[in-house]
Amino acid sequence: MPPSSPDTSAEGVTRYGLFIGNQQIAPIDGEYLDVVNPATGRVWAQVPDASAKDVDAAVDSARRAFDDGDWPAWRAADRAKFLIRFGEAIADNAEEIAQLQVNENGKLIREMAGQAKLMPEYFNYYAGLAQMPTGSTNPLHVRQMINYTVREPLGVVAAITPWNSPLLLLVWKLGPALAAGNTVIAKPSEVTPVSAIRFAELAAEAGLPPGVFNVVTGLGHPSGTTLTGHPGVDKIAFTGSTATGQAIASQAGKTLKRVSLELGGKSPNIVFDDADLDSALNGLVAGIFGASGQTCMAGSRILAQDSVYDRVAEELARRAEAIRVGDPQDPASEMGTIASRAQYDKVLSYIDVAKDDGARLVAGGGPARVEGLPDGLFLRPTVFADVTNEMRIAQEEVFGPIAALIRFTDEDEAVRIANDTQFGLAAGVWTGNVQRAHRVAGRLRAGTVWINNYRKTSYAAPFGGYKQSGLGRENGADALREYTEEKSVWVDTGQGVKDPFNPRA
Ligand code: NAD
Repeated sequence: MPPSSPDTSAEGVTRYGLFIGNQQIAPIDGEYLDVVNPATGRVWAQVPDASAKDVDAAVDSARRAFDDGDWPAWRAADRAKFLIRFGEAIADNAEEIAQLQVNENGKLIREMAGQAKLMPEYFNYYAGLAQMPTGSTNPLHVRQMINYTVREPLGVVAAITPWNSPLLLLVWKLGPALAAGNTVIAKPSEVTPVSAIRFAELAAEAGLPPGVFNVVTGLGHPSGTTLTGHPGVDKIAFTGSTATGQAIASQAGKTLKRVSLELGGKSPNIVFDDADLDSALNGLVAGIFGASGQTCMAGSRILAQDSVYDRVAEELARRAEAIRVGDPQDPASEMGTIASRAQYDKVLSYIDVAKDDGARLVAGGGPARVEGLPDGLFLRPTVFADVTNEMRIAQEEVFGPIAALIRFTDEDEAVRIANDTQFGLAAGVWTGNVQRAHRVAGRLRAGTVWINNYRKTSYAAPFGGYKQSGLGRENGADALREYTEEKSVWVDTGQGVKDPFNPRA
């Protein structure tokens, strides 16, 4: 069945449906949520506010596609061909996909266009991995027995995603989940739900059977909670805040669902006095002001060594003030909006928190005005100096464009401060000393360490958190393991069972 098209009202508000069984359908109770463009303040779309009954319908669709459909039995080569076709469909529609996400979350068109162009590469990578051997044969302590293993799909995967990179973070889950033969229900953030629906339509057009990739839109509760507690769901792949991740892990424990969690961070970006300072400063700016600081991997704690501390503070403040905050649609803009009013208020409140705790404001510190967009959620890039690591601005994830600058004396102190956090997602090390670079990378308790660079990711490089930044890894070859169960098969090639009470005989 071809995907149905959404309705657009006279006011230009487009109403979308849930995507279940390869078509858009209206929610059972008829409830919808508004989707607001954070640069204009205008409602431009509506999506279903899915109830528990809608979630049941999506799980039923995914369950049937897995249990009774032929998708899990497709030859790996055919799943790979689909993934490549899906990547091609994304490439053909990259502009639209980028634009939808800019409308949803106010990120720069240039960043979203870059991400859209990269997505097919992820599917190509997992198309290759879908065809790799998945098991082993194992030497045993008993004669005339063979043991081999196979990796099988888990079943129905709930992919729950946040608003900051709506589709890329979904791709990180879809690639390995589909390559392994699972069926998927995506639950995008209520702030950024439209792009996921369009994505699922493209997958259907590229030949995915009905029920293999469904989308339910709605709030964390009831849509998210119904999904995570649903007996028909086998695995939850979640990206979002640490608090929600903790709630999901507790709930999943009751039915022992498989869980992978990509959560928050308060990542240290450490500048030693032997670093190439110009390059480091570019990395510091990219780390905290890229995407308006709304990335899990934001380098939000900047640790600078004594002898370069004042220069880093001065130059970081100067560069922050020079950032062009502007219309996300304008390719010349360097920082777009904050994605939602709630997040905007949260980020602003942290400016007061930092001041109250005694941090020194050296750049920014409030809303930014952008001509022609009076209702846009724009903030000035903000830098606080004289931060100590106990302050809330150094311990709590802000998820916005606020840098906290902390002073250190030597390597031991830098490592101690860097690791003194509940998080462990990422870290940066800036130094010209190759021994120090690797030594410090080895001592940091973080899932990713960038040496003399920051904020790079790839389909080939595992990504995930230590400590309360998460559970499991996305990307890289091992991500497939997160979407499979391992089965161990024993074969008797000898004489049969001789002694029923001695399994070793
Ligand atoms: P969030 O936790 O509020 O929401 C994430 C998703 O979970 C949304 O789809 C939401 O509707 C849903 N949800 C909320 N409560 C739920 C519940 N009880 N049960 C099931 N689903 C529920 O996070 P957010 O504000 O959308 O995103 C920002 C957070 O995401 C930040 O903390 C950031 O660090 C994190 N993040 C992490 C990574 C990573 O890879 N580690 C990447 C991007 C964002």
